[in-house]
Amino acid sequence: MTASTAVKLKPGDTVGILGGGQLGRMLAMAAARLGLRCQVFSPDPDSPAFDVVQNATCAEYADVEALELFANDVNVVTYEFENVPAATAMVLAARRPVLPAQKILETTQDRLIEKDFVSRLGIGTAGYADVSSTADLRAAIERIGLPAVIKTRRFGYDGKGQAIVRAGDDLDQIWEDLGTKSAILEAFVPFEREISVIAARSASGEVESFDVTENEHRDHILKISRAPAAIPDELAAQARAIAEKIATALDYVGVLAVEMFVVPGNGAPTVLVNEIAPRVHNSGHWTLDGASISQFEQHIRAIAGWPLGKPVRHGEVIMTNLIGDDILSYEEWLTVPGATVHLYGKGAPRPGRKMGHVTQVFPARKP
Ligand code: AMP
Repeated sequence: MTASTAVKLKPGDTVGILGGGQLGRMLAMAAARLGLRCQVFSPDPDSPAFDVVQNATCAEYADVEALELFANDVNVVTYEFENVPAATAMVLAARRPVLPAQKILETTQDRLIEKDFVSRLGIGTAGYADVSSTADLRAAIERIGLPAVIKTRRFGYDGKGQAIVRAGDDLDQIWEDLGTKSAILEAFVPFEREISVIAARSASGEVESFDVTENEHRDHILKISRAPAAIPDELAAQARAIAEKIATALDYVGVLAVEMFVVPGNGAPTVLVNEIAPRVHNSGHWTLDGASISQFEQHIRAIAGWPLGKPVRHGEVIMTNLIGDDILSYEEWLTVPGATVHLYGKGAPRPGRKMGHVTQVFPARKP
């Protein structure tokens, strides 16, 4: 029942999407273009993804009856966020294929398990240590040094659930503020830049990655992505190979994002993996207008059992997130030549809330 190789949707079939945010919305729009329907499951009645589908389930992720009815209505289930509760995935997987597979969530929901997995593949990460008490924290600092970054093992995003630890800091206070007994300490990486690779893998093992994206954060939230990243070709090839290796090792079906740091190496820069997101990713939004196939379409193709696209980039691309009050300038963006504006249909602009994004494509000049 759950074997991913068994999934082969046909136009008119229905994809079930867990999560009703902008990622679910853009997945549903990509699916519609391919003649597929989507049903969105989200506990939030104001979910932006509800606006673009005919069928929606507004229920809690623990509502087994609602999950069963949802499963009955769809041909395959996917998700737009990584913190899908294990019990939710289990109920659904007993009835319909869930892609990417549930076991992938176990690896990517926990920073320690994820880092161990990446390290076992021989891929570089920041030095890290398991921390579950202030005594552990002191021992980890002895080993890793300062500055360092302490992160909760689970449920961290956009810089939440993490803090920088510097020499002289009150460690008891830092531990108390973190509010968990399960964390990791990471060496602080003096990175030159942050990049990400969006890769797709099909059930038959075909892998396609997009050109490497360079990411700029403000207040821990992605603000600007540029594609291609301004890095040497060999480094870009290395970054893509890492993402593809991870996708294959996870036996992954769908799109994933691998966030990496570029660090100065011995002679040439090198990359360290920061984080894996088992889903479409904000740093891949440029593909909607900047490439022949978007990350959203690529994900839908992968989970539908269809051939992956071979993405061709249309030029140099800049994606700017509209965060919080940035959205108030949408009319100005609408008048910018060459800009494509995406608004997520969310209500009030709260600080830090992703409200939309703008893509600008600068076509490559013919030589
Ligand atoms: P994360 O939640 O792990 O993606 O971290 C959010 C952001 O914090 C990253 O995009 C980096 O800008 C920064 N950051 C995270 N970990 C480290 C680290 N070990 N060293 C330096 N900066 C980091």
